Amino acid sequence: MSVRVRFAPSPTGLLHIGGARTALYCHLFAKANKGSFVLRIEDTDLERSKREYEDAMIEDLKWCGLEWHEGPQVGGDFGPYRQSERTQLYKDLAQQLVDEGKAYPCFLTNEELEELTEKAKAENKAPHIYHDKYRDLDPVEAKKRVESGETHVIRFKNPGKVVSFTDLVRGDVSFPEDMVGDFVIMRSNGMPVYNFCCVIDDWKMKMTHVMRAEEHLNNTVRQLLLYEAFGVSAPEFAHCSLLVGEDRQKLSKRHGATSVVQYKDQQFLPQALMNYLCLLGWSHPEEKDIWDLDEIVPLFDLSRFSKSPALYDIEKLKHFNGEHMRRLDTQALVSYLKPTLSKDHAFHQQSEQWQKDCLEFFKEKINTPNELPEHLEVLFSTTPSDSPESAEVASWESTPAIRAYVKEEIKRLDNEGVSFISVDQFNEMTNHCKKELKIKGKFLFKGLRLALTGMAEGPDLKVVIPLTPMSVMKARQGL
Ligand code: GLU
Repeated sequence: MSVRVRFAPSPTGLLHIGGARTALYCHLFAKANKGSFVLRIEDTDLERSKREYEDAMIEDLKWCGLEWHEGPQVGGDFGPYRQSERTQLYKDLAQQLVDEGKAYPCFLTNEELEELTEKAKAENKAPHIYHDKYRDLDPVEAKKRVESGETHVIRFKNPGKVVSFTDLVRGDVSFPEDMVGDFVIMRSNGMPVYNFCCVIDDWKMKMTHVMRAEEHLNNTVRQLLLYEAFGVSAPEFAHCSLLVGEDRQKLSKRHGATSVVQYKDQQFLPQALMNYLCLLGWSHPEEKDIWDLDEIVPLFDLSRFSKSPALYDIEKLKHFNGEHMRRLDTQALVSYLKPTLSKDHAFHQQSEQWQKDCLEFFKEKINTPNELPEHLEVLFSTTPSDSPESAEVASWESTPAIRAYVKEEIKRLDNEGVSFISVDQFNEMTNHCKKELKIKGKFLFKGLRLALTGMAEGPDLKVVIPLTPMSVMKARQGL
């Protein structure tokens, strides 16, 4: 049987990085097994689900490079792939369970429910223990009340047994018989709950594997009971480890950016985000850190999942971004970084070759695009640094002579029509200071740097000076 996996987001918010990781695992697992990756929109919670969120999630998944074989926009043999378009199926199957005595209408009001929950709590019992009041109501009587329009939900008649299964990540898992009670499968507004439609769809869409986050383990109990009630076999489950922040708590907004779109907006490379997310819960057989997704498809197997929570560390992600950026060829590097600079940045006025040389040099110094403008200051800033180091270099006895010489030299080169000082010309300047001005060591190098760039520290002058436009050089000298 060919592998079929699905990513089944509820469109109640933006795509979370945890969701993107699940989608990535599904995508990789399908690809590794030449199977199908299905996108299913779980939008039966009418109040919280929004079409805008669905659209945004689809955009974000595409940005991540996670295309699906079946689902919204692409169709497939098992559609529709939006649960709100499948409600009749859920209603019919709920009725089937009622007819078979495996589910029943429950007429408890919200107030009654609350009271019963409180009562159970006060007695130190599971909160759902008294929710089965209508379990044994005569079906004829129940039907009459339903037909008269009385508000009700449909509850599953839980057989009350230990539920065990073997999870592909967590191994053997077992839940006690009183874990979930008679849970609701259809809401009073006639809409199904997540666990119910999830089972029906995973079954009807012929899913072979369900990969999702560990927090769904409790749902799996309910889902396994439902598969059994329908008399169908359940897919295999793989519950991936939780993503946690530095405080070891489940990753949430207070840990920083948790939506994929935030990384897209900050111009992270999707391949870096995917590479990093993949390693949060899965490991490369050779412990290799940086790779492209296609490279690991043949290596992706479920045995390399870890059970322990995975620490989401934005600094590490930045490092991954830097590594992926440095793997880009020059043209791709320019296409990536250039649009991240503001439209009026002087970078854009430089030649194509200059832009390539510049970014090939500065890519070694940065991990993310937002670090770039600060690094480019050394090429464009005309405001001298006011750091204590600069003040110190400025105070050295030898510095004024260097400054005077540099000013004259720049004037001369400008008159000659030089638009960028070459490495040779820069070397000549250094030699002049050494031989004629008799300045050596740090007094020479730091003094020259200060005179040329206005800063006491910075990257290699042999690279920086040939990249600095003459207009900037002149402005720095007050010319
Ligand atoms: N709609 C559920 C969610 O977004 C799907 C969980 C599952 O994969 O079964 O959490």
